[in-house]
Amino acid sequence: RERDLKIERERLRRALRRLGEAFASGLDRRRLLEVAVAAMCEGVAADAGRAWARTGRAGELEVVVTSGDVEAADAAMTEVEAHAFEVGASARGVVNHRAAIALPLRTPAGELVGFVSIARGGGAFTDPERELLGYLAQQAAQSLENADLHEVVERQAVEDGLTGLANRRLFEERLADEVERARRFPGQALALVMLDIDDFKAVNDRLGHVAGDEVLRAVAATMREDRREMDLAARYGGEELALILPGAELDGAARAAERIRDAIEHLDLPLPGPEGGSLRVTVSAGVAVFGHRADDGERLVEAADEALYHAKRSGKNRVARADSPAALPAE
Ligand code: GH3
Ligand code: MG
Ligand code: MG
Repeated sequence: RERDLKIERERLRRALRRLGEAFASGLDRRRLLEVAVAAMCEGVAADAGRAWARTGRAGELEVVVTSGDVEAADAAMTEVEAHAFEVGASARGVVNHRAAIALPLRTPAGELVGFVSIARGGGAFTDPERELLGYLAQQAAQSLENADLHEVVERQAVEDGLTGLANRRLFEERLADEVERARRFPGQALALVMLDIDDFKAVNDRLGHVAGDEVLRAVAATMREDRREMDLAARYGGEELALILPGAELDGAARAAERIRDAIEHLDLPLPGPEGGSLRVTVSAGVAVFGHRADDGERLVEAADEALYHAKRSGKNRVARADSPAALPAE
C-alpha cells in the first residue's frame, strides 16, 4: 500500500512537472495540448489519449492531438467523449475491458475550449483519479487560454483591427528593412504604392460610418488578395492604404496598382437597408520607386503621395507615377 502510494505520488509529481514545462514551452497551442495529454496519461497510468480543441474561425471541435494506442481504446474513448460532449461535463466508462474518461477543458470564465479523453487497460477510473485529472484539465485550459491571448496580443501589435492589413507600425518597419536592402544591393528595385479611396467622405455622409467601414474593409480585402506573397499591404492611416513591392520597378508596380484600381472599380458592394442595390467605389493611386530622389523611406512615401495627389487632381480613379508628366494637372 505504501509502495503504491509512493508510486502514485511520483506519477503525480511527473505529471505536474510536465504541465509546468508546457507553460514554459513557448506557448504553442498544439504542443501545449500534447503535454497536457501526456501529463494526464502519466498521472493515472493511462496508455492512450487525445485532445479536442476548437480550430479555425468556425470553432468546430476537432481532434488536435493523439497519443498512444488510440485505435485499441477508440470504442471506449468515443463512448465517453459522446457523453461528455452531450452533458458538457466529465464522463467515465468501461468498454471491452478498457476504461476511459473524458474531461472538458474550460477557461476560468467557464468557456468550453476543448476536451481531453484518456484510456487504459486497467480498472475503471476512481473518484480521486477523476479529481486529479479534473485539476490537470483545468491547468491545461488555463494555459491554452494564455496561449490564445498571447497570439491575439502578438497579432494586434502588427495588424490593423478594422481591415486586417498590416498596421502603420509594421508598414514603417518593413519599409525601413526594404530600403536598407535596396541600399545594400543596388540592383534590387523597390516600389511603393499609396492608395486613397475617392470621395470617401461622401460615402460616410450618405451611408454612415458603419457602412463606410464596410467599404474600407472590402477595398482592403481586394488589395490583400491581389498582392504577391512578398508584398506588404498596409493601412497607412484613415482611408489611405499602402503597398510595398520589393523587387518591383516603376512599370511593374504601376501595373499592380492598376490591377487593384480596376478590381475595386468593379466591386459590387451591397447597400445596407431594405431598398438593396449596390455601391461602387473607386480609388486613386500613386506609385514611386526607390532611387536617387527617393532614397529613404520617408521620401519614398512623399514621392508616392505626391503622385497620388496628381492622380486626384487629374480626375481620380486612376494611377499616377512619380515624375510622370502625364499625371500632372492640366493648367
Ligand atoms: P478624395 O477623393 O479627395 O480622397 O476625397 P475624400 O472624401 O475621400 O477625402 P478626405 O481626405 O477629405 O476624406 C477622407 C474621409 O475618410 C474622411 C473620414 O471621415 C473618412 N475616414 C477615414 N478613416 C475612416 C474609417 O476608418 N472609417 C470610415 N468610415 N471613414 C473613415
Ligand atoms: Mg479619399
Ligand atoms: Mg484621404
